[in-house]
Amino acid sequence: MECYVCPHRCGVDRPATFAGPGTLGSCHMPMAPVVSRAGLHHWEEPCISGSRGSGTVFFTGCNLHCVFCQNYDISSLDQGREITVTRLRQIYQELIAQGAHNINLVTPTHFAEAILQSLAEPLSVPVVYNTSGFEAVDTLTRFKGKIQIYLPDLKYYDDRAAIKYSNAYEYFRTTTNAIKEMYRQVGDYELNDEGLMTHGVVIRHLVMPGMLEDSKKIIDWVARTFKPGQVMFSLMHQYVPYGKACDYPEINRKLTDEEYKEIEDYLLASSIEDGFVQEGEAADCKFIPTFDGTGV
Ligand code: SF4
Repeated sequence: MECYVCPHRCGVDRPATFAGPGTLGSCHMPMAPVVSRAGLHHWEEPCISGSRGSGTVFFTGCNLHCVFCQNYDISSLDQGREITVTRLRQIYQELIAQGAHNINLVTPTHFAEAILQSLAEPLSVPVVYNTSGFEAVDTLTRFKGKIQIYLPDLKYYDDRAAIKYSNAYEYFRTTTNAIKEMYRQVGDYELNDEGLMTHGVVIRHLVMPGMLEDSKKIIDWVARTFKPGQVMFSLMHQYVPYGKACDYPEINRKLTDEEYKEIEDYLLASSIEDGFVQEGEAADCKFIPTFDGTGV
């Protein structure tokens, strides 16, 4: 089946499984889901992790190839196990039985077809679509009613940086269109009595070293596009030079506290009222889970 699922629009005849005939596209993955870990995760935003944890399913591969990816082992080294849609659905049920507040699909984009099949019947908890943000609107529309919470990144304003560090063309236009579609589907965010999100959009932005003007333009876009009470904004301090960041000296370091503070102050002075900021301790590799096939 020719694949046009994401904005890369590779058009390749993507194989059903690794062993099947066909051609891999930019994501390097077959149509069958490949998963590297599934388990309760406590390091998302509090409205997602809650007290018992978010039921995360880490998919292998990615339609972006960020040179600094903290999940580099699974996004670019392709560690993971190929499973069936039936097994994927079982994993959701196992996580719910363990007490997961929600099912959190991490880097789901390139497995959209399999995930749509796995969500043919609704689950008893909200489903979180945890994405790089580089999404095709026509694919997203097919998730309407199946996804309750969207958790997109908004990484870059500068398209040259998106090409250089993530091999993504027209990232800002593509991702902001995707975020508007996500909001159209789920509407204003809502929290329940426990402070857990029942539906809504949380836009994440990771501040990168030396790219403070980019961060300010992204905050400006969010402030211009959404009113208080509509979406949440999560300003992330956890940049760690991982993966191939060593080949890019300008981003081969952690963000300084002063850099983060400058952007945090800018955010607090904006009209954005809803969301999260992070402490500097978040920039630590200990928060990166081990992708060892647990729960798969
Ligand atoms: S999902 Fe993979 S094969 Fe399909 S368009 Fe995107 S990168 Fe290409």
